[in-house]
Amino acid sequence: MEQKLKNSILSTAREMIAGGLVEGTAGNLSARLSAERVILTPASLSYETMEASDLVITDLKGKVIEGKRQPTTEMALHLACLTHHADIAAVLHCHPVYASMFAINREPIPSLIEEFDIHVGGDVPVADYRETGSEALATEVSGHLGERGAVLMANHGLLCVGKDPEHALSIALLVERTAKIVWGARLMGKPFALPKSTHQKYSPLYKKARRIN
Ligand SMILES: [Zn+2]
Repeated sequence: MEQKLKNSILSTAREMIAGGLVEGTAGNLSARLSAERVILTPASLSYETMEASDLVITDLKGKVIEGKRQPTTEMALHLACLTHHADIAAVLHCHPVYASMFAINREPIPSLIEEFDIHVGGDVPVADYRETGSEALATEVSGHLGERGAVLMANHGLLCVGKDPEHALSIALLVERTAKIVWGARLMGKPFALPKSTHQKYSPLYKKARRIN
C-alpha cells in the first residue's frame, strides 16, 4: 500500500511536468497514507530523478516520521486540506499558465462546460492572497474546498484535490484546459453561460464522486 502510493505520487509528479503544469522543482504533491499519516514530496528536488526514498512521511501536524529530506515548503497547505476535508486523500499544487492568468487577475474560472460541473463541482473560486508557505495561506486555501475539486491561489497558482494523486492530476489538467478555453472564447467574443438547470443537475455528481469509499 505504502509503496504503491509512493509510486503513484512519483508518476503523477512526472506527469505534472510533462503536462506543463509546473517547471523545474515547482509544485508539490501529497497523499493520505492512513488516518494520521501523509506522504509528501520533498522540497526543491527534480521530479525526473526523485525516488520513493526521497518522499517524506509526516503526521497531520507536520512532524516528520520517515524520510531524510525536508518536506515541501508548502507542507502546511497540504496538511490543512487533508485535515479539514476527510473525504479527500490527495492534494496537488501547481503553477499552470492559463489558470495562473485567472489567479493573478483574482478571477474565478467559470464553469461554462458540463464536464467542469461534473469533475470540479462548478466555478473554481479564488482564495485571497497570502504569502507562500504560510499557515495563513493553508487556512485560506483549504477553506475554499468544501464543494470544489480546485481552488485558485491569488497571484500564485492552482491547488487541486482528489481521491488519489492521479485523480487530483486529472482535475488540474481539466482546470488548465478549461481556463485556456475560456480565455480564448473571451478573445473571440462573449461566452454564453450554461442554464442554471444544468448546474443543478451536474454539480451534485461531483459531490457524490468525491466521497471516499
Ligand atoms: Zn506554488
